[in-house]
Amino acid sequence: MRVLGIESSCDETGVAVVEAAPHGVPRLLGAALHSQVAMHQDYGGVVPELASRDHIRRVLPLTEAALAQAGLTLSDIDGIAYTRGPGLAGALLVGAGVACAMSAALGVPTLGVHHLEGHVLSPFLSADPPAFPFVALLVSGGHTQLMRVEGVGRYTLLGETIDDAAGEAFDKSAKVLGLGYPGGPALARLAEQGDATAFALPRPLLHSGDLDFSFAGLKTAVLTQARKLGAGLAARQADLAASTQAAIVDVLVHKAVAALRATGLRRLVVAGGVGANRALRQRLDQACVRHGWRVHYPEPALCTDNGAMIALAAAMRWQVGAWPPGGDGLAFDVLPRWPLEAVALDATGTG
Ligand code: ATP
Ligand code: MG
Ligand code: FE
Repeated sequence: MRVLGIESSCDETGVAVVEAAPHGVPRLLGAALHSQVAMHQDYGGVVPELASRDHIRRVLPLTEAALAQAGLTLSDIDGIAYTRGPGLAGALLVGAGVACAMSAALGVPTLGVHHLEGHVLSPFLSADPPAFPFVALLVSGGHTQLMRVEGVGRYTLLGETIDDAAGEAFDKSAKVLGLGYPGGPALARLAEQGDATAFALPRPLLHSGDLDFSFAGLKTAVLTQARKLGAGLAARQADLAASTQAAIVDVLVHKAVAALRATGLRRLVVAGGVGANRALRQRLDQACVRHGWRVHYPEPALCTDNGAMIALAAAMRWQVGAWPPGGDGLAFDVLPRWPLEAVALDATGTG
């Protein structure tokens, strides 16, 4: 089964081809990606209308590039997957529309994929793929969740953020530090030269006893600290970046460890853009070594949005028999708000 996957939920257009046998981990054959970050930078955030228009411009050339890399043509494709949600409605419609048009032209089925399922399964394309069951720490721009994952489509939410996501905490703090948008990676780079103990910042909900997160207060504390420094901020920028990163990482590591303890599971899977963060990886590696747990990450390029994770999730759904006969058909609907539990399958694989 060769699946072409299209991701267009936000500000990355991604197209990829994944090949799956009935069993075993699917293989990535080709992938192409365009990030709109530069286009949205001037506005300090994603402009939905610009995002949709750019997806339209990019999606076909990227499809050609992904197929060329795989050494395939469209006639070699057995199914088309697209991100159905969650995300920006207009952006999602581009991927869904193109997927359904291709499906009609080729006579192959479509499958609408949950974006977060793509993120959670993305480490299966790494050199060290996980095995079920595991605890997933999903840390992206819009979500921060801990999940118990028993298999494809078998996700139990253990805890999540009650306000900002971890990626948002990075981005909003970076904005305060004058690092532009989205500043997460820039803040992480600057933090490498700073003293993480320089400023005492809050670790919200660290000892709440549950597996929920809160990052809104941290962002406010960073803003207060930056105002206090005033003109002195420039000289202390790296220290404040390092202290901010340490606060976010502390909470994420503490709660991930608590989730592994609470579930008794011995395997952690990290996914989402913040999963690329070096400090987070180091701290999680240390914690897992100490407890004798395994930890798996996506390849750095597959932490943020991409087409490969969408093709992969669809291929893994096909492996457990979760494609409806004929796929999802051509009456596509996108779901800008869509809880992951909505794509739950029972233990036999079917929904
Ligand atoms: P969602 O998947 O929840 O809808 P999204 O798709 O926008 O959100 P991702 O693409 O998974 O999120 O991740 C983007 C986020 O990851 C941004 O907030 C970005 O700042 C953050 N990020 C990326 N790299 C790093 C890094 N090295 N350190 C910290 N944050 C990072
Ligand atoms: Mg993005
Ligand atoms: Fe994402």
